[in-house]
Amino acid sequence: MENNKKLKSWLDAFGLQHPLVIAGPCSAETEAQILKIAHQLKDTDATVLRAGIWKPRTRPGNFEGVGSLGLKWLQKAKEETGMLIATEVANANHVDLALKHDVDILWVGARTTVSPFIVQEIADALQGTDKTVLIKNPVNPDLALWLGAVERLYEAGVKNLGVIHRGFSTYEKTRYRNNPEWQIPIDLQNRYPDLPLILDPSHIAGRRDIIFDLCQTALDLNYDGLMIETHFDPDNAWSDAAQQITPETLRQMTIDLRIRKEEGDAIEFKNKLATLRTKIDVMDHKLLEILGKRMKIADEIGALKKKNNVAILQTKRWNEILGKMILEGEDNKLSEEFILRIFKAIHQESINHQKKVINE
Ligand code: PEP
Ligand code: MN
Repeated sequence: MENNKKLKSWLDAFGLQHPLVIAGPCSAETEAQILKIAHQLKDTDATVLRAGIWKPRTRPGNFEGVGSLGLKWLQKAKEETGMLIATEVANANHVDLALKHDVDILWVGARTTVSPFIVQEIADALQGTDKTVLIKNPVNPDLALWLGAVERLYEAGVKNLGVIHRGFSTYEKTRYRNNPEWQIPIDLQNRYPDLPLILDPSHIAGRRDIIFDLCQTALDLNYDGLMIETHFDPDNAWSDAAQQITPETLRQMTIDLRIRKEEGDAIEFKNKLATLRTKIDVMDHKLLEILGKRMKIADEIGALKKKNNVAILQTKRWNEILGKMILEGEDNKLSEEFILRIFKAIHQESINHQKKVINE
């Protein structure tokens, strides 16, 4: 897939003065629910109505979607409001039905992107379509798998493509339902700067209170759009209740978000600077997370030394670490002076942690 401006042309054709906003419920539940949400969204920046019709659930027994019946409700919502409509497709049969019902934007879900077999089946079914297709990142943090899915569609002649960042699952419990791992979409953006990139804060957050901050980070990183789960009665939604927001909350959010789309030299400079600073913030956050994890291991070593009555400071081991890090530092264009300073500080913090454990 070559990098070219055409990748963005479907989005440019919308002629929006703000990032693309796709909103709507996690799942289509009833015709009345879809129509009510669509009408409420008319007062917001959302121009595309989303709803899941076939719901892939991690565990069976949860609500698995209303099926193709829901496509008629989406069509009706489009007729009544003029919004475009979007739904998830997970196999060739879904694609056929979505195309028959004139769905404007089809997206490939995170549980589908992980499987090149199914992605290929979907790509074959979409051969040459002029509909827009958005590929969610795979459940696992693997950029190649994500790009591979985009390339399969591109090679099938689907030119109106984009990607959705919805976070990555981890075994460890974090504050997120799915870890954002911002570095992965940033890498993707560097590789394909013209491939529209959309944030799905709802599935990253899993809860509504951190959706705003996620959106702001994405806008600071120059994302092209947002896909936000929206329901008039979030708490009673049939799926993903904790993470949905009301259309009214969405409306206020898009007013409060800082959007950097203006042009002009001074503004362009400010925007670029802000984007780079956000990238630095992402890295700093990662550094702290890794340092915290490193100190937890130091605590374990402290406990082990205490049990075996071994001294904390082991000079030989420490000198080995330093030597190795100075060499690795060189490979990463980091000066010896910097490596010495930073590792002395890390080592001291490690010793403090171990002392605390041993004296407990
Ligand atoms: C969804 O958008 O409702 C959904 C199922 O998302 P994901 O594929 O990101 O889990
Ligand atoms: Mn959902």
